[in-house]
Amino acid sequence: WPRRQSLTDDGKMVGDFHRRYILVTDTFFLLSLGNQLSSLDGVPVAVKDNFCTTRISSSCGSAILKDFTSPYDATVVHLLRKARAVVMGKTNLDEFGMGSANIYSTFGPVYNPHDLGKGQGLGSPSERRVAGGSSGGSAAAVASGMCFAALGSDTGGSVRLPASYCGIVGFKPSYGRCSRWGLIAYANSLDTVGLLARTVRDAEIVYDIISEHDDRDPTSMPIDIRKHVDAITPGFESITGDLEDLTGLRIGIPQEYFVSELAPAIVQLWRDGIAHLRDRGATIVPVSMPNTRHALSAYYVLASAEASSNLARFDGLRYGHRSDKGSFKNDTLPYADTRTEGFGPEVRRRIILGTYVLTAGSYKNYFLQAQKVRRLVQEDFDHVFLFPNPVHHHPLPTDTSSGVHVLLTPAAISTAPKLQDCFPSADETSNAKNPVDAYVGDVMTVPASLAGIPAIVVPFGASPLDGYPIGLQLMAQYGDERTLLRVAATLE
Ligand code: GLN
Repeated sequence: WPRRQSLTDDGKMVGDFHRRYILVTDTFFLLSLGNQLSSLDGVPVAVKDNFCTTRISSSCGSAILKDFTSPYDATVVHLLRKARAVVMGKTNLDEFGMGSANIYSTFGPVYNPHDLGKGQGLGSPSERRVAGGSSGGSAAAVASGMCFAALGSDTGGSVRLPASYCGIVGFKPSYGRCSRWGLIAYANSLDTVGLLARTVRDAEIVYDIISEHDDRDPTSMPIDIRKHVDAITPGFESITGDLEDLTGLRIGIPQEYFVSELAPAIVQLWRDGIAHLRDRGATIVPVSMPNTRHALSAYYVLASAEASSNLARFDGLRYGHRSDKGSFKNDTLPYADTRTEGFGPEVRRRIILGTYVLTAGSYKNYFLQAQKVRRLVQEDFDHVFLFPNPVHHHPLPTDTSSGVHVLLTPAAISTAPKLQDCFPSADETSNAKNPVDAYVGDVMTVPASLAGIPAIVVPFGASPLDGYPIGLQLMAQYGDERTLLRVAATLE
């Protein structure tokens, strides 16, 4: 047992939980005691409920899949089980991953575990904060010590935003590093498997286990490309070999991330982060990424378009909920009723938006424009990074004298908002929030998703105003997880 407990700073809690869990439900693991198969052997991990799992249902937080249990495990779940990690349960999420506050789940919202530490117990219901979304359940489970780490999915920031709100690490590897087979698709050109853990090292342990090529995912990075990518991004090593020494490392600060919506406490923490890295010898370089300001709108056009297509499969015929209003006998098919009953308001909003931008009349003005913006955002990143993009067929000329290893930005524009402030107003004429206002919360995280590059959020302090945690985000060139994780660890 001590070996396993030593995996976390606060291993005891995890160890105790694990012991109880193992005796009740997974007794066969006892047979393997003494035979450590991996660094996750016997370690409890949670899995977001949009990954397919046998034995436990996979609902995607949606009424349409409430009672659905998959006949197979997602590849990443299979890899965890193969490493003898204990999948201790599935976690709540915004329906199909669509949301930033984990308020759009048929099972209700996820609360921020930091509410408990505020001296007033759980506080009054009106004061409660969100855990962030869409991987809010995974973030809350890790932040409250229920498990060692959790799988999330990150399409536009869904592990990074909850990590910032809950004060833990949220890691989105490069697109293609971890198999998406068995991850129920939201927007497949953006979906990545994400990780939540309490430390960078813990996230890396899980990443090493689940980052493998998989033939069943056509977008999984092939083995030869992995080798090529690893060779072309040699990572950063300081001359002294001291992990805290960042002499020679170049960190870019993109000016366009300094948006008017940033809370003053976040700006201050960003400055503190810059000073922290400069004190360790890093060179700070202001950089410009002019297309960042279009990234958010392009993301919501593309993500909704892909979602409208992906979610067409939920018709009530093959699996999941089926409305009993329609009957096949008198020629009324149950599609519309099934989908009206099964999908919540945010999912319906995205399906309508996505269908609209794909119609003949608006395709050119919205969908194609958004694809072009996506390419421009990718090129912005390629212009500032020191290493060339290893999967670009024609790498853009990079000025190696000014290129940076990583970029540092805030992870979110504020600390975790109050739950009541996240619900859109029913009265559309009032000045209160409309659902689209919430989309601005993703402004720091969507550019890395559009570019498919790795990004990580590390907790870096708390707001002096409300005491809730704040994280900083690091981004690196496609495939350069090594540098990213190395620098992230110095922020802890
Ligand atoms: N908040 C973003 C959205 O709703 C991102 C969600 C995600 O990464 N799954 O699309």
